[in-house]
Amino acid sequence: MLKPLLLDQHFLAGLGNIYVDESLWLAQLHPRRISSGLSKTEAQKLHYAIRAVLRKGIKNLGTTLGKGQTNFFSVGKRRGHNREQLMVFRRTGQKCLRCGAIIKRIIVGQRSTHICPKCQWV
Ligand SMILES: [Zn+2]
Repeated sequence: MLKPLLLDQHFLAGLGNIYVDESLWLAQLHPRRISSGLSKTEAQKLHYAIRAVLRKGIKNLGTTLGKGQTNFFSVGKRRGHNREQLMVFRRTGQKCLRCGAIIKRIIVGQRSTHICPKCQWV
């Protein structure tokens, strides 16, 4: 499945739970899709999405979700500003910014996962 594969640091280093959800939403791919079943166009779309999502995260100095020590902080304990610009992650119950459907939270590979049920199909 796409999500567990993208979280596998042996396969691709650097993507965590937030950025995987954001990338799959941007590429309009369901996290339970079987990776070997992607078309070349879908794979290219995913590649583009991952690069765009990471670029945005870096530009915003990372994604700080809360105040606790386990959250992400930049050099000098600065908060990242990417949380305010997340498209799908932890937006459960809110409208999809692309189509207006309600964002849902599901579990994929034992990880909390956020999807638009209309934009991201299996
Ligand atoms: Zn949508």
